[in-house]
Amino acid sequence: MVAAAPLSYSSYRTYLECPLRWKFLYIDRLPETPRGYFTFGRVVHSVLEELLRPLVVPSARRIGEAESQRTLDEWHPTPRTGGEGSLVPLEELLAAYDHAWSGEGYTSPEEEQRYRTLGRDLLRRYHRQLQAERPHPVAVEEHLETRWDGIPVHGYIDRIDRTPLGGLEVVDYKTSRELSRDDARESDQLSLYQVLVERNYAEAVEGLTLYHLRSLTPLRTPPRGPNALGALHDRLGTVVDGIRAEAYEPTPGRQCARCDFQSRCPEFRPVPAAERERLAALVDRFESLRSQERQLEHELKRTAEELHRAAEELGVHRVPGSHKIAIRRREEAWQYSLEPVRPLLEESGLAPRVASGRAEDVRRLVRDPAVNPEIRRKVAETGARRVKWFWEIEGDEAAE
Ligand code: SF4
Repeated sequence: MVAAAPLSYSSYRTYLECPLRWKFLYIDRLPETPRGYFTFGRVVHSVLEELLRPLVVPSARRIGEAESQRTLDEWHPTPRTGGEGSLVPLEELLAAYDHAWSGEGYTSPEEEQRYRTLGRDLLRRYHRQLQAERPHPVAVEEHLETRWDGIPVHGYIDRIDRTPLGGLEVVDYKTSRELSRDDARESDQLSLYQVLVERNYAEAVEGLTLYHLRSLTPLRTPPRGPNALGALHDRLGTVVDGIRAEAYEPTPGRQCARCDFQSRCPEFRPVPAAERERLAALVDRFESLRSQERQLEHELKRTAEELHRAAEELGVHRVPGSHKIAIRRREEAWQYSLEPVRPLLEESGLAPRVASGRAEDVRRLVRDPAVNPEIRRKVAETGARRVKWFWEIEGDEAAE
């Protein structure tokens, strides 16, 4: 059994996409081929950290759910040297960008140049915007971790800002081409960061933002409510359970196109040449049996229907064959569509009794003499009886 290491957002997302790929990355620690757009994102993030760090005015943090807060000095024991609140000059910023630049993973010098120019342009525009309007970060590139109701989680948060109302806003930079407000609304990453910040900081999270760097657009959403966080906790729990149980099944999908491990994956591994003929014969046999099975199912259904029609006409339920007797059986089920009477049930406080939607619960209510007869009648009228006939061979299993 694998010990549960703290789960990051990318680890969680990788496992959801494909547990086998997760294993290759997080257990076997196989390297991936560098990709230019990841390198680009990393470089821009590191330069933005240099740009924003001088603006940071830290905020008090928690040391535990029920414990008192730590003071700022405890959290930031090293006195910071001057420059607090001042913006790094543009030339210095671009020099830092050149210094941090890496050509790793680009498919051609042209592609690298395109990204490099994009980064310079983006930093210039962002710097200009910061001159006009500065954020109030309390942390940049902050590593936070917590145990979220039994699940250890952690993450590096690009920026945490203080809001005008004294709360906190989580900001995550994105260098991707496209980004929509729905991406921000549905981002599990932002939800997880909300939890990390709430459990590590004294102030409440008031906003979650994906910051689209290419267009300098903040896509802001309110913090998640208990339902959304509960659903994320369930999904994280499923991932943690899978990892603990070492469940590493391949899950092929669109992610395979950018997976470096196809040669190790059973979904893509070719059958060894020496075994191809033997396995091909098995596949042919399987395919042929499948086709016969479908044909037999079809014939079985048609014969049962014909038998049913004849038995109905003659009013008989037991039909002897040459060897055995076919017996006609009847199965009855009630189904209720409660929507039309839902307001009535809620008004009379009876809704919880049929909340399961199970027919037996509804029928119990219909038969209950303590319930108003008018309500019982209206509920009963939403019901429909479904009758299903099927055939059994005496002494055999059921055949429809
Ligand atoms: S190739 Fe596809 S199925 Fe196989 S490990 Fe990679 S992502 Fe998973």
